[in-house]
Amino acid sequence: MSEKLKKDLNSAIREIPDYPKSGILFKDITTLINDGALFAALIEALKERYNRMQIDFIVGIESRGFIFGAALAYALGVGFVPIRKKGKLPFSTAKESYSLEYGFDTIEIHTDAFREIPNAQVILIDDLIATGGTAQAALKLIERVGGRCVEACFLLDIPQAGGAERLREFVGVFTILDVGVGNGH
Ligand code: AMP
Repeated sequence: MSEKLKKDLNSAIREIPDYPKSGILFKDITTLINDGALFAALIEALKERYNRMQIDFIVGIESRGFIFGAALAYALGVGFVPIRKKGKLPFSTAKESYSLEYGFDTIEIHTDAFREIPNAQVILIDDLIATGGTAQAALKLIERVGGRCVEACFLLDIPQAGGAERLREFVGVFTILDVGVGNGH
């Protein structure tokens, strides 16, 4: 991915201080995806990276992972699989809970998401990785329903939160931009 594209992506992300709560610097990607040329350039760059790998599915994490994931899946001509917050998927699901600052959250995937393809090769995608709790739970879900995560891909990394580094113990991690502190849970 070119430095020019990275620079353009970086300047397109809007930072909202103290959202959704005090002390959090929220990274707003709506100002990137409403720029058609830039959104397309990002998806093209990701397509170039993942075209070289034998990918069966793109798995996106609710909800911003759906935006990038569905576009990338379409560009690659592969299926898209959603990982959703508890209670949103209608068929039988695998569930995984992970801890937040206060309490915990649960995400789910359909048990037949990978259409019985043995060892389905998947890319996991989300907009941002902070503590990595969401991504680690997503990785477990992928494995539980028979997939193999080839790489986890994030537009933004908050290195101070350490999530990408921890996730690298389990899977290859590709992040495009490093950004400042703030965990938006
Ligand atoms: P984590 O589980 O801590 O890695 O958090 C990742 C999830 O929380 C992703 O789905 C992000 O979209 C969201 N998130 C965490 N921190 C932020 C932030 N500063 N700005 C925007 N989204 C965030």
